[in-house]
Amino acid sequence: EKKNIINFGAGPAKLPPSVLIQAQRELLNYSGTGISVLEMSHRTSDFSNIINTTENLLRELLNIPENYKVLFLHGGGTGQFSAVPLNLIGLKKDRCADYIVTGIWSAKAAKEAEKYGKVNLIHPNLDRYTSIPDSSSWSLNPSASYVYYCCNETVHGVEFNFIPETKDVIIVSDMSSNFLSRPIDVSKFGLIFAGAQKNIGCAGVTVVIVKEDLLGNALKECPIVLDYQVQAGNSSLYNTPSCFSIYIMKLVLEWIKSNGGAEAMEILNKKKSSLIYDIINTSNGFYCCPIDVSCRSRMNIPFRIGKKEGDEALEKLFLDGASKLGMISLKGHRSVGGIRASLYNAVTLEDAQ
Ligand code: PMP
Repeated sequence: EKKNIINFGAGPAKLPPSVLIQAQRELLNYSGTGISVLEMSHRTSDFSNIINTTENLLRELLNIPENYKVLFLHGGGTGQFSAVPLNLIGLKKDRCADYIVTGIWSAKAAKEAEKYGKVNLIHPNLDRYTSIPDSSSWSLNPSASYVYYCCNETVHGVEFNFIPETKDVIIVSDMSSNFLSRPIDVSKFGLIFAGAQKNIGCAGVTVVIVKEDLLGNALKECPIVLDYQVQAGNSSLYNTPSCFSIYIMKLVLEWIKSNGGAEAMEILNKKKSSLIYDIINTSNGFYCCPIDVSCRSRMNIPFRIGKKEGDEALEKLFLDGASKLGMISLKGHRSVGGIRASLYNAVTLEDAQ
């Protein structure tokens, strides 16, 4: 039996209870097969149905154009920090890429890319990640193979509410922590990736949406499991995929669809996050969110208590009190401290209230 817990975790995070119940109900005997998805070959028609349905749901929910491939890969978001340059930095002969760094996840991605080519850091001197500097101050390189950014910085709570203008250079975005929290125009991107463990499922699988004409440019040292062309040519079944995680994603996507899709998620996520930001804003500085109002994340809300830099004793009191009320995983990331409330799709309005 589930206890009455409100999970504000940053990921792995809350799943819709109905998804867990369905997974439990189907665990011992999936769809009359007499076995569990955990025990099923990825070459069976039952698993083909699962992965095809998952892909079709993603295509429908995000309106993914025909000329994009959808891949289900291993290695998490971090795997994609390597896979992106391994597959795309060789698109142009200079082998360079622009990285817009707005928090630790884009900084880590840039550092990994430096192994494979030249990386131009856009505003590398931000020591505190609390804003997105005006795009007029970015010096983008027109001969870059791609421009990379993290759409929502999970630790800092900095979210892009616009798509950067990059002229003819393709855009790559890490949407691990705001994927399917709102509609997105996929056609504006060369590649989007997202680990599943925040908005669309559990850990173990990462979705990659990549424009078909970018395939086939991997560096020769690219590990075969990370090679987009190989994975696309094998419908993500070049090797054994994370079968159970893909199955859980299917259930979560069905849940998103039956709850109104990306548009409905956006409305709900706006409401949930506004509730909390409003309290912070009207608390006369008792609660303090350091992030610029223009780029405050709807998914991850970091805040301090008592004073701007945070009163650690008060914050401990808050966390202990929250925990007594069943509200868990509110502690800020160890690199920034304070409190962080993550409000992914499965967190309800009542939870936020
Ligand atoms: N990108 C973002 C935005 C993240 O929040 C995370 C994980 N929290 C990662 C990448 C890394 O993902 P993983 O742990 O799956 O490698």
